[in-house]
Amino acid sequence: MNILVIGRGGREHSLIQKLAESKQADKIFAAPGNAGMEEVAERVAIPETDQKKLVTFAKENGVDLTIVGPENPLLEGLVDIFQSAGLKVFGPTYAAAMIEGSKHFAKKIMAKYEIPTADYQAFTNLEAAKAYIREKGAPIVVKADGLAAGKGVVVAEKVEEALKAAEDMLEKGQFGEASKEIVVEEFLQGEEFSLMAFVNGSNVYPMIPAKDHKRAFEGDHGPNTGGMGAFAPVPELPEADYQTAVNSILQPAADALVKEGRPFTGILYAGLIQTDRGPKVIEFNARFGDPETQVVLPLLENDLVQVIVDVLNEKDPELRWADKTCAGVVVASSGYPGGYEKGRPVPVISGKTNVYTVHAGTEKSEHGYVSSGGRVLLVGAVEKSLPQALEEVYEHLQMFEGNKDFYYRRDIGISSISSTHP
Ligand code: ATP
Repeated sequence: MNILVIGRGGREHSLIQKLAESKQADKIFAAPGNAGMEEVAERVAIPETDQKKLVTFAKENGVDLTIVGPENPLLEGLVDIFQSAGLKVFGPTYAAAMIEGSKHFAKKIMAKYEIPTADYQAFTNLEAAKAYIREKGAPIVVKADGLAAGKGVVVAEKVEEALKAAEDMLEKGQFGEASKEIVVEEFLQGEEFSLMAFVNGSNVYPMIPAKDHKRAFEGDHGPNTGGMGAFAPVPELPEADYQTAVNSILQPAADALVKEGRPFTGILYAGLIQTDRGPKVIEFNARFGDPETQVVLPLLENDLVQVIVDVLNEKDPELRWADKTCAGVVVASSGYPGGYEKGRPVPVISGKTNVYTVHAGTEKSEHGYVSSGGRVLLVGAVEKSLPQALEEVYEHLQMFEGNKDFYYRRDIGISSISSTHP
């Protein structure tokens, strides 16, 4: 089978690594891909946004299955275009991807189908938003309705901060179209975790839970990033909360989209907070999470190609997870998520078999790999326990010691270890 993966990040490299383990994968193409993928896939110089060229490529190269990684092409309707060209594709249509593309839409679905989430109101009018913020008080959360590359959420500790966020978004058009409408919601207290599931209509096949670290610096300080590290499963998450997340959140969300005439196919991702009244939704994504994918897929014991084919064919896939823990730490360019230099030499990590490297922002030069993005690599390990996995990862990361071009967080998973290994 020839498979085309669309995207260029760590998530897509991780997907390709897993797909390449399958005997069914004859040829894997990555459009546009990154340098790390070249080991197992052929890169195709077509950007994620060039729908016409992607369809033509898939047709001319006998692509049997296309998997769309990032959210932007999904919300530009790439799956719809592939489907109408008669091509097999794994990912939600534009109508279903709205669960990620509009926070107000997602909130309306959750309200209508009683899926637990923070109380909220949506606004296009600044004065009305301000009155609501003043009435509710802080802490309070202000969110741009549309996609804003992870930057459209302000968790305000003071009323003034929330008022300014509302003003920036609604009046100053901070995120353009994406912030013409905002959602103002209750601040939820608790630990966050992510849960992804393979979905086709009302068929929901959950994965193991994962936890990522969004802030740039240790102690969860600094600006939000795409994610600086992750691990799976989550030792401190009670089984009952996991079951609630599946039965009262993912399943009803999938059912809701069917009832609304927008059946979802692909990966449904719930970002959750474990409140003292059970898990509640912070957001839905319509695709694999990044960096969660990089620590969840290494624990999948089944053939991922078969799993995806089964899900698409409405057949129950077999999902078996290794009884181990996987942890990954992101190596980022110094300065990220702000400005950073590109083209810096990236040391190559050759490790034991249970330590692995996932590339994100890398390119190849005549002297080896060089950086080409904010998040450059993820170094991960599969071990019997979280402390062991982290020990392996950090041992390998010592090669970045003293390297001023890159940085990584030294406390990934630490709070989970201290809460489960007192
Ligand atoms: P992503 O980059 O994952 O797509 P996003 O921009 O869609 O993120 P959210 O995931 O909705 O934004 O929120 C970003 C972060 O803000 C969350 O991970 C969480 O830490 C915090 N957050 C969002 N909503 C709430 C809430 N209601 N209560 C407390 N914290 C919240």
